[in-house]
Amino acid sequence: MKRIGVLTSGGDAPGMNAAIRAVVRAGIYRGIEVYGIYHGYKGLITGNIKKLEVSDVGDIVQRGGTILYTARCEEFKTEEGRAIAIEQLKKFGIEGLVVIGGDGSFMGGVKLTQLGFPTIGIPGTIDNDIPETDFTLGFDTALNTIIDAIDKIRDTATSHERRFIIEVMGRGCGDLALWSGLADGAESILIPEKTEDIDQICDRLSRGLERGKRHNIIIVAEGVGSADEIAKKIKEKNNMDTRVTVLGHVQRGGSPSAFDRILGSRMGSKAVELLLAGEKGKMIAIQNNHIVAHDILDLLTKKHDFNESLFQLAKELSI
Ligand code: ATP
Repeated sequence: MKRIGVLTSGGDAPGMNAAIRAVVRAGIYRGIEVYGIYHGYKGLITGNIKKLEVSDVGDIVQRGGTILYTARCEEFKTEEGRAIAIEQLKKFGIEGLVVIGGDGSFMGGVKLTQLGFPTIGIPGTIDNDIPETDFTLGFDTALNTIIDAIDKIRDTATSHERRFIIEVMGRGCGDLALWSGLADGAESILIPEKTEDIDQICDRLSRGLERGKRHNIIIVAEGVGSADEIAKKIKEKNNMDTRVTVLGHVQRGGSPSAFDRILGSRMGSKAVELLLAGEKGKMIAIQNNHIVAHDILDLLTKKHDFNESLFQLAKELSI
């Protein structure tokens, strides 16, 4: 293999640039050429492809977002779209591809592999919703962004003796809510993996009030529903006023944490190593601090492991 490509697809996540940099430099270090494909699968179809040199990925390890841009591309889901993409890859002489994105992007990669074109995936999403990896790229940074925001909200909550409901991202996965809730001592954490009775939330609020608590933080994962709805239910049940903050896309941006920079670097390098070893249809993962690889088709039949003990701990500590 003499030439490989790299693209980012789906939602962006901090740390993607570190992974791109690692793919490019690990490739050049091993004597191959690396091509950047812009705007995800859309750029693969339109031929928005450019050779990347060592200096093209300089000064990006610390930047959020993705220098290759990202997109969602319906055309790539069709056989015709993928045939055009394969033609483009042949035209540029690209023999292997690294796809940085979520499970949808991996499906696209698998389809290319099935057409005889080797691809390797890197899990890049803040949601931490991919099976068989302890962490996805971007999760740690998003978590720290959330914690920073909650710390600030806590200052005003304490000053005004207010109850805050904070809605965080994660789609169907509660990890961002659970981990930030534990890190920030939230009174209640509402996640899609666990059903929490509104009575339990209200009881905890009342108990806190009785023992003189000056603030309350409730974290709601977006997969549970809207924070406004929860606020309405608390008002109906307990006649307590709450303030709602929806953190939104601020969670996706920002300079990647040291953890995500290192994770992106390790995963990017491993992806190149696997492609050169003739591997395909695999996703890079981190498990017990080891960088490993799993068959994508196999892992897409599984669900991301919910950390029950972490949830229990958060409950215990918020009595
Ligand atoms: P995120 O988790 O951030 O949403 P994702 O990778 O899951 O990331 P998707 O929108 O599901 O995001 O997928 C990104 C792109 O991958 C799609 O726009 C499409 O081009 C391609 N893709 C998704 N599913 C398939 C599929 N079944 N077959 C071929 N290509 C696909």
